[in-house]
Amino acid sequence: MVFNVMEEIAKHSLQDIFESGYSGCQCEICQNDILAIALNRLPPQYSSRQAGEAYIKARLFADQWKVDIIRELTKAAEIVSASKRHG
Ligand SMILES: [Zn+2]
Repeated sequence: MVFNVMEEIAKHSLQDIFESGYSGCQCEICQNDILAIALNRLPPQYSSRQAGEAYIKARLFADQWKVDIIRELTKAAEIVSASKRHG
């Protein structure tokens, strides 16, 4: 069983963006759209579940990763809020 560490970090980072005053829609549909767009542009980082927990904690504080992830999430959020696909 493997999972994408990048995906976990992106989810955490998206919550940070939302909490820091993001004005677009924050529903689950838009959240998933933003994550999908951003994750397609970020390199996946696969890990086994057990090793992954510690890895996520360490990586959450890795500045360069965070910069790239926030940049892609921000771009993705702009795309999603500009083309809202639900009512
Ligand atoms: Zn929405």
